[in-house]
Amino acid sequence: MPIFEYKCRGCAHQFELLVLRGGEAACPQCGSRDLEQMLTAFAVSSEGIRQANAKAARRAAVRSKDYIDKKVADAEYVKKHDH
Ligand SMILES: [Zn+2]
Repeated sequence: MPIFEYKCRGCAHQFELLVLRGGEAACPQCGSRDLEQMLTAFAVSSEGIRQANAKAARRAAVRSKDYIDKKVADAEYVKKHDH
């Protein structure tokens, strides 16, 4: 979904707007349609960061599972050899 960031040339108000196909953007503050479209890099990079975080979270989950498995294995070892 394309979310664009605009700066109004009329009142300098900056805002993000979801632009529907064929829709016309207008400043929510003064209603002007004389808008300057800003770079959309923020929207792209925040999406990229979200995906990177999801990947990192999955990696951390895998790591902690391995860690728990090893702790369980250690506990089993202790149980078997502690009698
Ligand atoms: Zn405006």
